[in-house]
Amino acid sequence: MELVYLGLGSNLAGTLDNPKEQLNKALQTLSEHPKLNDLVCSSFYCTNPIGPQDQPDYINAVVRLYTCLPPFDLLDYLQTIESGQERIRDRRWGPRTLDLDILIYGKLVLNERRLTIPHPRMSERAFVLLPMSEIDPQLVITDCKTVTDLLENCLDQRIVKLQK
Ligand code: ATP
Ligand code: CA
Ligand code: CA
Repeated sequence: MELVYLGLGSNLAGTLDNPKEQLNKALQTLSEHPKLNDLVCSSFYCTNPIGPQDQPDYINAVVRLYTCLPPFDLLDYLQTIESGQERIRDRRWGPRTLDLDILIYGKLVLNERRLTIPHPRMSERAFVLLPMSEIDPQLVITDCKTVTDLLENCLDQRIVKLQK
């Protein structure tokens, strides 16, 4: 079993009521997979978009789970969920109903175009680090830095914790 952290994001409602429901539906689908176990989800957070600014704010969360699925199989499953929830791939960092990223997969370091682990941009993103620190504040990410240490470099990023 590997310890895995996933990043979840949405800023379009699609056919659901709102982006929050997109995350709830994705959580439900993740928890139904027999090989994704012991899911723990952070609170939901509202954040400003990265990249193009002419799009709605995002709802973000982080999920911790245990799995025996190999990394590319996990990515396939995440992309199937994204497509099933009407994700349309358009411009880079454009608006989307659902984004599911693999942040950390055990101690794996992988540098392939289709899958880079740890996620290369996670350590500069408050919308990843803050929900992650809620689940495991002492988690070591890069260069012996904990998620809590890395958050100190992101204090300028607006992020609001939502009530459950
Ligand atoms: P960012 O990666 O900066 O958060 P994004 O999530 O908007 O941007 P996408 O358009 O969702 O990027 O993904 C582009 C490609 O990134 C995917 O097709 C996927 O193959 C690849 N990819 C590489 N590493 C990962 C990872 N750790 N998790 C998910 N996808 C990844
Ligand atoms: Ca992403
Ligand atoms: Ca993605």
